[in-house]
Amino acid sequence: MDWFMSAKISCREESGKVAQASGRWSNYFSQAGSLCHSEAMTRTEKLLAELIALPSVNPAFAPPSPAVGPRCRAASDDQQVVPTNPRVGEKNVADFLATVAASAGLDVDFQKVLPGRSNVIARLLPAGKIRQTILLAPHLDTVGADDSQFVPRRKNGRLHGRGACDTKGSVAAMLTALCELANTKSRPQETEIVFAGLVDEENAQAGSRAFVGQASRLSPFFKKVRDRRDACPTALAIIGEPTRLQVVAAHKGSIWLQLETRGRAAHGATPQLGQNAVHEMARIVDALETDYAARLRRRRHPLLGTATVNVGMISGGTQPNIVPDRCAITIDRRTLPGETETSVRREIAALLRAKRLSAKISSTKLAPCLPLETNPKLPLVRQFLRSVGQTRPMGVDFFCDAAVLSEGGIPSVVFGPGDIAQAHTADEWISLDSLERGKNLLLSFLKSLP
Ligand SMILES: [Zn+2]
Repeated sequence: MDWFMSAKISCREESGKVAQASGRWSNYFSQAGSLCHSEAMTRTEKLLAELIALPSVNPAFAPPSPAVGPRCRAASDDQQVVPTNPRVGEKNVADFLATVAASAGLDVDFQKVLPGRSNVIARLLPAGKIRQTILLAPHLDTVGADDSQFVPRRKNGRLHGRGACDTKGSVAAMLTALCELANTKSRPQETEIVFAGLVDEENAQAGSRAFVGQASRLSPFFKKVRDRRDACPTALAIIGEPTRLQVVAAHKGSIWLQLETRGRAAHGATPQLGQNAVHEMARIVDALETDYAARLRRRRHPLLGTATVNVGMISGGTQPNIVPDRCAITIDRRTLPGETETSVRREIAALLRAKRLSAKISSTKLAPCLPLETNPKLPLVRQFLRSVGQTRPMGVDFFCDAAVLSEGGIPSVVFGPGDIAQAHTADEWISLDSLERGKNLLLSFLKSLP
């Protein structure tokens, strides 16, 4: 059954209406030329090419906002506006994936997250009673890009285009594996498999935060857990991110803090009458980048290496002939498991006190970006490691949805084709070999489940 390119089936949209999918995405796909219809491509490659041709830029990064904004930025007002630019927002991709999943016989639903932005959920029920749940959870949004990056290009065994590795490659590998499983006779007897295409990972992770909030309605195995100390052994979330097909069980967290110094303004000709807030901040920057950074380098995690600090922004003063009365910096502190915002603020305050410096410290993020540390001895984590031929899990530097789901009580690992080195770059690509191997590894893991 060719569920893959079926463009005539219908599926339920978030509005509750039944929409004919026929031709709906043809404008986008025609822009991609003959690539999307090439016979030489595998199903996974075709799906990825189509996903690249359907832009889904996170609204936080769409014009007139900066083309590429910071990861993990706090939720902002512009996010609350329904995206009207068809290139912006995840709706096209979510609707298209719903069509693909429905034509493979999966149960499809949408979870409303923000106006015009919904997670797409596709579920394969087991033949018998549900005893455990596997969640496949890549994100649907991408960072910004110019027009050329929405035209998929295949060259030298690579597929180029925005989202190729971060993370439409994972979306294609995960959904293709699930659709192929649904179309074999060997569907699991007691394992439920849920695909969740999540919105907004690149900005404030509203999709995964909403998913965790309502997870108990989706599966009985997300119901019993309240937090990760009580993590459910009969559920595992595999978050799709480019990990070069390595199972990742730990990543760092990220805390952004603003430090503000206050001084006293005076005429630039008589600086002795004022108090220079920039000078005070210069000492603080030096203390953070030398003493504090050296202290963090001694703090090691076996999978993650050391915690770090980066003074990323500074502003102060208004003109050369005025003694500045205010200066502010923003720092990015990458945390290890066990470190919290409270503990970080406390140690920075103690450092400043010891050096007789003073600054007001405040957080610039609305949503916490916590570190991930999943117990590699959990039965489903061990089984997944064994299935992909890995003896122990890896750690990565970058933050993703895994921490949010894990904090919500769903044990989570990160896994996907492609390399994070190509993510967010002007020429994003994925190795087609990695993409296909990723789909095959996921499919054989899913087939190995009871
Ligand atoms: Zn990304």
